[in-house]
Amino acid sequence: MKTTRIVIAGGGFAGLYAAMHFNKRLARRADVEVTLISRENFILFTPMLHEVAAGDLYPGDIVNPLRRILRHMKFIDADVQAVDLNARRIHCIASVADRELEFEFDHLLLTLGSETNFFNMDGVRDWSVTMKSLSDAALLRNRMVALLEEASLQNDEASRRQLLTFVTAGGGFSGTETTGAVNDFVRETVRYYPQLREELIRVVVVHPGNFILPELGEELGRYAERKLRERKVEVIKGPRVANYDGVVVTLSDGTSIPAATLIWTAGVKPSP
Ligand SMILES: Cc1cc2nc3c(=O)[nH]c(=O)nc-3n(C[C@H](O)[C@H](O)[C@H](O)COP(=O)(O)OP(=O)(O)OC[C@H]3O[C@@H](n4cnc5c(N)ncnc54)[C@H](O)[C@@H]3O)c2cc1C
Repeated sequence: MKTTRIVIAGGGFAGLYAAMHFNKRLARRADVEVTLISRENFILFTPMLHEVAAGDLYPGDIVNPLRRILRHMKFIDADVQAVDLNARRIHCIASVADRELEFEFDHLLLTLGSETNFFNMDGVRDWSVTMKSLSDAALLRNRMVALLEEASLQNDEASRRQLLTFVTAGGGFSGTETTGAVNDFVRETVRYYPQLREELIRVVVVHPGNFILPELGEELGRYAERKLRERKVEVIKGPRVANYDGVVVTLSDGTSIPAATLIWTAGVKPSP
């Protein structure tokens, strides 16, 4: 009996849901073999990533092991390096021990997601922080605490303000949620720094469209904007972030915002 081999590359939402579907439909079929390959052996619930950055959740709260969800399916923890469509072969490097692996397939589902797009802005790529992975969230949290500490040692008013200014580029899901989390965290935490005042904090989201959260439509986008403004977040609509040198964020309309942190959530491109 010939076995039909289905390979799913990428274990994010798309890959996992496809795998769950196959798991349910094909589990009893001896003539079909489904393999999920992903470079992490867990699914990350990105909509709650900002809560890890804000310290409201632990990293373990927003991940779920793929092997536990897909008990009857073959899972390979590996990084996909290349696909040979003619030979129907996929080449990978195992996530542990760097071992080279190769799999043949009859059908391939590519669900590798996206990676951050810096639109060829070298300064932004070199100096901004991103928000896509668990380590991004942990780094952002550590960074906020470190900046509060640094600002508390600084006497110069302008330097303190620069250290405590957080700019987010992009008002989609990721940018809006992260901005809210950063704002809540720093305003809440500054109370434990007697040398600092809340008024030194500036949290800004820069969004090129007419309203934030375009994924949800105008009404909800404007509602979210009102809520952010009530919490003292500045929402700048229209211009884009055009440059960042680690010290000043420059917008496409020429506005300069001195800021120690630029959070880049303004674009993705398909995984290479
Ligand atoms: C902070 C944040 C908040 C968000 N909030 C929301 C929200 O509230 N609502 C909403 O609808 N969307 C939200 N999104 C968007 C949502 O996360 C994405 O739309 C969704 O993850 C896309 O699913 P995907 O399966 O295509 O890609 P991904 O979820 O990115 O999955 C791709 C998978 O492939 C793996 N992979 C990539 N390259 C390789 C390789 N070479 N080899 C092996 N494995 C590889 C990755 O590790 C990952 O597991 C948010 C995103 C972020 C970053």
